[in-house]
Amino acid sequence: MNNHRLADQTGTVIIGGGLSGLALADILATAGEDFVVLEARDRFGGRILTQQFGAGGFDMGPAWFWDGQPRIARMIERFGLSVFEQFYDGTLTFEDQARQVHRERGFASMRGSYRLDNGLAALIHALVAALPPERLHLQSQVTAVSRENERCRVTLASGDSIVADHVVFALPPRLAATLTFTPPLPIAATNAMSNIATWMAGQAKALAVYDTPFWREAGFSGDAHSRVGPMVEVHDASPADHGPYALFGFIGVPPQGRKDEALLREHLKRQFERLFGPKAADPNELFVKDWAFDPHTSTQADLEPLFAHPTYGLPDAMQNLWAGALHFSGTEVAPQFGGYIEGALEAAENTAATLLSEKVDS
Ligand SMILES: Cc1cc2nc3c(=O)[nH]c(=O)nc-3n(C[C@H](O)[C@H](O)[C@H](O)COP(=O)(O)OP(=O)(O)OC[C@H]3O[C@@H](n4cnc5c(N)ncnc54)[C@H](O)[C@@H]3O)c2cc1C
Repeated sequence: MNNHRLADQTGTVIIGGGLSGLALADILATAGEDFVVLEARDRFGGRILTQQFGAGGFDMGPAWFWDGQPRIARMIERFGLSVFEQFYDGTLTFEDQARQVHRERGFASMRGSYRLDNGLAALIHALVAALPPERLHLQSQVTAVSRENERCRVTLASGDSIVADHVVFALPPRLAATLTFTPPLPIAATNAMSNIATWMAGQAKALAVYDTPFWREAGFSGDAHSRVGPMVEVHDASPADHGPYALFGFIGVPPQGRKDEALLREHLKRQFERLFGPKAADPNELFVKDWAFDPHTSTQADLEPLFAHPTYGLPDAMQNLWAGALHFSGTEVAPQFGGYIEGALEAAENTAATLLSEKVDS
């Protein structure tokens, strides 16, 4: 899949093959531009990660999108992907500090949220399939960017390098700040990059898979809130209309307190049982994805919990670097939908507009 030789030079190097990097690549490909995508992991999608189990695809990163997000809606329509509404029928379960479980609360917390059948990876697969494979490189972690004769040299951990007119950081700005820049970036730019918290980077998700949706049959929506943990918020994560069925939860224990995975798994199973009864105690599979300790998403600074959605956008200090050769894409620099998958597309669109307008101007 990834055996294409890296070209010596190109017009634009896109660092990061998450949704934003791939969406930018898609616009540049349509415009007939010369580009290369360099992705550190051995898969595309970044924070979009769908775990396959039997006939089901289960999102361990983002799962939801909402009305009023036009770009994601257009892309789903373009690729003919199948959308369904988050399951919400039934009562909510609430666990108080004293581990008392209350089942009389009748509201659904994520009604009006939408999901993709088989998970959001379907979108990533569709985008990748539409792009020229020789321009996409997996296992290509960038470590350094240097200025050379008014162009930029991008160097990989392997030692390979490529020269380009433009470099796009389609990755969390905090990760971009850890790369080696020669000459160094202005301090104001590095500080601005480091100060942008990566959305959801400190989070972890647990997902339990079952043969039957026994909670639905008992009148529960699968939505649960807990003051005890380890999970603070639980929802139904089943596919649109078939099994295997699943419940997922956001783990509320701070990252440092969830490093013992065996112990965490025991606590997770016990909590699923407390919330949804004995059938929940023994899932066919229990998946845990801790983003806080994934170096391609998170930095040490992201271990600090975020209590509110930050204000995102592209700070002035991160603009016009190296005579406009460096560009930031990725959801964290999107002014309107920053943090969301819609923001990843918004940022890609903005970066593409800048790159393509420079073409027209020159
Ligand atoms: C648990 C969780 C739940 C979420 N839930 C939702 C939700 O329900 N709805 C929603 O809208 N959003 C949600 N989000 C946010 C959503 O995932 C992001 O907005 C979106 O996926 C960001 O895409 P991106 O392309 O900007 O960044 P990323 O997906 O982070 O992509 C960056 C890419 O850069 C690569 N990379 C990193 N370093 C290097 C390097 N040195 N060299 C080369 N490549 C590198 C990474 O491997 C990655 O592929 C959630 C996120 C998490 C973690």
